[in-house]
Amino acid sequence: MREGLLIVISGPAGTGKGTVVGRLLEKNTNIKLSISKTTRKPRPGEKEGVNYFFVSREQFEEEIKNERFLEYAEYNNNYYGTPKDFVFEALEKGYDVILEIETKGALQIKKVFSDAVLIFLLPPSIEELYKRLVKRGTESEDEIRARLEIAKNEIKLVPEYDYCVINDNVDDAAEKIQKIIEVEKLKSRRF
Ligand code: 5GP
Repeated sequence: MREGLLIVISGPAGTGKGTVVGRLLEKNTNIKLSISKTTRKPRPGEKEGVNYFFVSREQFEEEIKNERFLEYAEYNNNYYGTPKDFVFEALEKGYDVILEIETKGALQIKKVFSDAVLIFLLPPSIEELYKRLVKRGTESEDEIRARLEIAKNEIKLVPEYDYCVINDNVDDAAEKIQKIIEVEKLKSRRF
C-alpha cells in the first residue's frame, strides 16, 4: 500500500481550525491528527495528550537537540512542534495525517515533503476573527491583540499554500477540505 497523504492546515488563531478538523475526523476514520508538543500553559478545559502534550522549555529544547520534531516554531513566545515518530508511523500504515500548525512550520514541511498538501483556512474577515477571539474568552485583551498582529502577517503567506478555504460555515469548510483531500489522493494515486 502507498503511504498516506500529509495534510497541513494553517490559519490564524480563532479561525476555527480545531472545529473544522474535528468535523473532518468524525467523517474519516482514515485520517489521524498529529498532537503537537508545546511549552504554552494549558487553557481551561484542555487535556494532556488530547489538545497538546504540554512540556517545559527545557524538555522541548532537549527534544529539538535530539531531532524529535518534524518541524517546530516559536509562536507568541512559546514553542510548538510536531513529533516525528507519530507522523511517520501513521503515514507508513497508510493513514492520512493532518498537522494543524502555524505558517513557519507549514513552510518547513513543504520544503522537506514536497507532496504535502498545504491548506490555509481563512476567517471571513479580521473583524470576525477579533469577535471570535473575544467570544472564546480564553485570552487576555493583550494576547488577543498580539494574535491579531500575527494573523495579519500569517495571511500574507496565503500564496505559498496549495489551497485556501474560507471558514464562514464549519460544515461547508470541512466538506471543501474533504474534497481537496480526495482530489489530492487521486492525483498522487493514493487510492
Ligand atoms: P494555540 O496556542 O492557539 O493552541 O496555537 C497557536 C498556533 O500554533 C496555532 O496557529 C496552531 O496551529 C500552531 N501550532 C500548534 N501546534 C503546532 C506545531 O506543532 N507546530 C507549529 N509550527 N505550529 C503549531
